[in-house]
Amino acid sequence: VSAMAKSKYEYVRNFETDDTCLRNCYIVVRLDGRNFHKFADQHNFTKPNDDRALGLMSRSARSVMEDLEDIAIAYGQSDEFSFVFKKSTNWFKRRASKLMTHVASQFSSSYVFFWKEYFGEQPLLYPPGFDGRVVLYPSNRNLRDYLSWRQADCHINNLYNTAFWTLVQKGGLSKTQAEERLNGTLSGDKNEILFSEFNLNYNNECALHRKGTTLIWEKVDETSTKKITVPKEGEKEVTFTRTRRKVTAHYCDIIADSFWNEHPDILE
Ligand code: ATP
Ligand code: ATP
Ligand code: MG
Ligand code: MG
Ligand code: MG
Ligand code: MG
Repeated sequence: VSAMAKSKYEYVRNFETDDTCLRNCYIVVRLDGRNFHKFADQHNFTKPNDDRALGLMSRSARSVMEDLEDIAIAYGQSDEFSFVFKKSTNWFKRRASKLMTHVASQFSSSYVFFWKEYFGEQPLLYPPGFDGRVVLYPSNRNLRDYLSWRQADCHINNLYNTAFWTLVQKGGLSKTQAEERLNGTLSGDKNEILFSEFNLNYNNECALHRKGTTLIWEKVDETSTKKITVPKEGEKEVTFTRTRRKVTAHYCDIIADSFWNEHPDILE
């Protein structure tokens, strides 16, 4: 402890707000890209879904899960990602601002760090930012409903965007005409437009776009070979398998029970 820690100025620490998260609750940190409408335009994102951008979001989220402790599951779509800390986490003494800012900064720096892996030679024109918020959920039902809410949002937006951009790109409508055409339509109507006018079955569209990305920890067997030197026999190649915990990506429904039954260790 330095001399500074014991100085007469030390009392100012007491002005810090106590933002300890309630015990026994899941802590959710949701990030959302700042003004990504413009960011997407300026970086020529493909409409309705740019796979480079979605891949970079997932890569950044994986970096968050690998570098920070106790995140059991993460869910992302569009320019947002939600991270769920285990109920029992004691990371940073459950201080909301510490958890949220660590997630947001690790995510943002990863987004920039890995940009080239996804966008190649296309330059990053300015530093992107992400806002964060913390929400506590006391029960498994509340947490599942939260994740269901985000996935339902993904579905509603993607169906709308798919219909909108199909009308523009394949139907030759202007953006204003496409908007007018979809005004007041229900999801059944949008499915019908896509199917009867464009021979496109929405349910056959890419699952990543329809369902978003769910990241969880899974045990996977990894087989690798190694050259070892054995006395008298010389160099020998041996294979060995070990089980590792790895972040895996899933593009499936997380609203119904089946996903949760298949992965019973996510919820506590
Ligand atoms: P805010 O700062 O309030 O969040 P925003 O412009 O980021 O404003 P959002 O509601 O978060 O608004 O919407 C994000 C927008 O980013 C989408 O509407 C879409 O235009 C664009 N976008 C994000 N990811 C993608 C992607 N992978 N492909 C195409 N467009 C995307
Ligand atoms: P935590 O994650 O808890 O903040 P930390 O390792 O970052 O852990 P700090 O108390 O923030 O601990 O101290 C930052 C440390 O980083 C310093 O003690 C010093 O070793 C190093 N450091 C930071 N900036 C510089 C710098 N400009 N030159 C040399 N060392 C630096
Ligand atoms: Mg927003
Ligand atoms: Mg946004
Ligand atoms: Mg958003
Ligand atoms: Mg530090």
